[in-house]
Amino acid sequence: MTQTTFEKEKVSSRNPLTPNPVLRGGYFVTADTSSEEIFITEEWSEEHRMMAEMVTDFCIREVQEPFFRRGRELVVTNEEDRKEVLALLKKAGELGLCGVSIPERYGGMGLDFKGNALFSKVAANGFSFATTLGAQTSIGCLPIVYYGNEAQKEKYLPGIASGELIAAYALTEPGAGSDANSGKTSATLSPDGQHYLLNGQKIWITNGGFADVFIVFARIDQDEKLSAFIVERGFEGFSAGPEEKKMGIKGSSTVQIYFDNCKVPAENLLGSRQEGFRIALNILNGGRIKAGAGGIGGAQLSLDKAVQYAVERRQFGKPIAGFGAIQYKIGDIAMRAFANEAALFRTADYIDRKEAELKAGGMPDSEAKVRAIREFAVEASIIKVKGSDLVCYATDEAIQIHGGMGYAQETGIEMGYRDARITKIYEGTNEVNRLLIVGELTKRAMVSKELDLVSAGKKIPSFLLRQLALFRPKEGYAEEERIVQGLKNTFLFLSGMAGRKLGRKMIEEQEIVMNLSTILSEAYVAESVLLKIKKLERMESADKEKLKIQRQMMQLYLYEALAVAKKAALEAIGSFADGRRKRTYNLVANTMLRPYDVNPKQLRRNIAGFIIEKRGYCF
Ligand SMILES: Cc1cc2nc3c(=O)[nH]c(=O)nc-3n(C[C@H](O)[C@H](O)[C@H](O)COP(=O)(O)OP(=O)(O)OC[C@H]3O[C@@H](n4cnc5c(N)ncnc54)[C@H](O)[C@@H]3O)c2cc1C
Repeated sequence: MTQTTFEKEKVSSRNPLTPNPVLRGGYFVTADTSSEEIFITEEWSEEHRMMAEMVTDFCIREVQEPFFRRGRELVVTNEEDRKEVLALLKKAGELGLCGVSIPERYGGMGLDFKGNALFSKVAANGFSFATTLGAQTSIGCLPIVYYGNEAQKEKYLPGIASGELIAAYALTEPGAGSDANSGKTSATLSPDGQHYLLNGQKIWITNGGFADVFIVFARIDQDEKLSAFIVERGFEGFSAGPEEKKMGIKGSSTVQIYFDNCKVPAENLLGSRQEGFRIALNILNGGRIKAGAGGIGGAQLSLDKAVQYAVERRQFGKPIAGFGAIQYKIGDIAMRAFANEAALFRTADYIDRKEAELKAGGMPDSEAKVRAIREFAVEASIIKVKGSDLVCYATDEAIQIHGGMGYAQETGIEMGYRDARITKIYEGTNEVNRLLIVGELTKRAMVSKELDLVSAGKKIPSFLLRQLALFRPKEGYAEEERIVQGLKNTFLFLSGMAGRKLGRKMIEEQEIVMNLSTILSEAYVAESVLLKIKKLERMESADKEKLKIQRQMMQLYLYEALAVAKKAALEAIGSFADGRRKRTYNLVANTMLRPYDVNPKQLRRNIAGFIIEKRGYCF
C-alpha cells in the first residue's frame, strides 16, 4: 500500500527515532491531540479506495444479489449451502481477498492495519460471509503471520492467501470462555521429541466445519500458561462435531473440535512454549478493532436499506421518510456511525504509525506489528464495544423502520438483526472489554507508569473555575473542546475519587468500573469526531455541502455523549459516595458536564434529510 500525501508529509517531518507521544495508548486521556495528528477517511489512498470498492462489489454480486434471488439466507447445516459458502471462499481467494493481512512475499495483499480495518468494515456487506472471511483473514492466519517461523510461514500462508487452505482459531473450551487461560486441552511431547500429543476439546470454532488449518491453544504438561500449535485437519486424532444450530450468522460454520491423542509435529509449536496466551490476547486486540469496524459497516448497511424502504413506503398519504419519528432514527444511526468511524480509523492509523516508528528504531517487522496493536489495547476495546452496540441498535431500528416487512425473512433485515447480536459476545464479551478499558488504562498509570493521570487530574480545578465563569467563548470550537475536556476530566475525577475510596477493591466493584468505562469511551469517540471536523474544516478539498451535515453529526454526538456520561457519572457517584461527599461530587460532575446548547430535533432532521436525499449513508 502506498502512503497518502498527508502520511508522507507527517512521516518526513518527524525524526523517526523520537517517539511521538500521540502514538501511546491511552494518551488521549492525559493530553490534547491536534487534528493534524489524526487520519480521516477523506485521506484514503487510491489503493485503499480500490480495495474497498472491490470488496463491496464482490459482496453485492456474490452474496447480496443471490440472497434476494434465493429469498433466504445461507445455512451451513444444509449441504448445498455449505458448498455455496466454500465456493464463495474460493472466489474470494481468487480475487486475493483471503490474503489481505498476509505479506506480499507469501502471496497476500499486505494491507496495512487501517486497510485491514477498512476491509472488515466493507466486508459487512457480505452478511454472515463476513464472519467466514474474518476468521480466514484475521484470527485464523495472523498468529502465523506474527509468530510463525519462516518454515511455518512458507508452508501455510500462501495457501491461506489463495483460499486453498481455510483457517480457524481455536481458543474457547466448554469450561474456558472469557477466562481463556483456564483451558484444559493438554499437550505432551512424545518420548522421541517428534510430536506433541494433544487431548481435549474446543467449542464455537468459526470455520471449524471445513477449515484445513487450526491455531490451537493448549497447555504443555503443568505449564502456567498456554502454548499455541498449528494443527491440520488431517492429523491423526483430530475430529470435528456437527454444525451448531445458531441464532444468526447461519452461513458461517461453527463447530466443536476434538483432540484424541492428536499427533502434532513438534515443529508446529507456534512461537515459544507458554507464549500461546500472549499470542491469543494480541490477536484478539487486533480482532477487536476489526470487529468494531464490521459493526460500523453493518450499521451503515442497515441504514441504507432502511432509508431506501422509508422513501418508498407510503402511509397517511406520504413516504414514511417524511415523519419526524423515522427521521429521528435515521439521523441518530448516521450520527453514531459517523462518530465511531472517526475513532476507528484514528486508532487504526495510530497502529500503522506506531509500527513504522518501532521499525525505524530497529524492531523486527512482526514484533513491531504486534507491539503496535498491543499499544492501543484500550482504544481497541472501546471500538469493539461501541461498534457492536451500534450494529445491534441500528439493525433493531432498521426492523422498526420496515414495520412488518422488517420481520419478514425476504427483506434480510431480520437476518441482519440476528447476525449482529454475536458481535457483543465474541472477540471478548462487551462486559470483559468494558472492564479491560479501565483495567488496562489503570495498569498503565499505576504499574508501568506510562500515563500520568495524576498530573492530568491537577488541571481539573482551573477547568472547573472556567466552567463556572459567566463568559463563554464562542469562537471556533471552544465550546466543543470544553465538552470533550469535561468528559475526560469527569473520568479523571471520578476514577481518582473512587480509587481513593475503594482502593484495590475497586476492581471488584464492576458496576462502577463499567460506569467509568462508559465515560472514557464517550470521551474518546467525542474527541475523535471533533478532531475529524476540525481537520475537514482546513481541508480545501472537503465537500462543503457534506461538511455542513458532518459538523451537525459531531454536534449531535457531543450532545448525546454528555447525556450518556452524565448518567454514568451520577450512577458511579451514587454507588461509592454518600453524604456531603456525594453532594459535592454530583455538583462537580454536573458542572463538568454542563449541557450543550443545540437543538437535537433539528440536528437529527437535518442529518436525516440529507441522507434521505442521497438515498443512503454517504460519508
Ligand atoms: C458464533 C460464535 C463464534 C465463535 N467463534 C470462535 C472462534 O472462532 N474461536 C474461539 O476460540 N472462540 C469462538 N467463540 C467463542 C467466544 O469467543 C466466547 O463465546 C466468548 O469469549 C464468551 O465466552 P463464553 O461463551 O464461555 O461466555 P462466558 O465467559 O461464560 O460469559 C458469560 C457471561 O458472563 C460474563 N462474564 C464472564 N466473565 C466475566 C467477568 N470476569 N466479569 C464480568 N462478567 C463476566 C460475560 O460477559 C457473559 O455475559 C465463538 C462464539 C460464538 C457464539
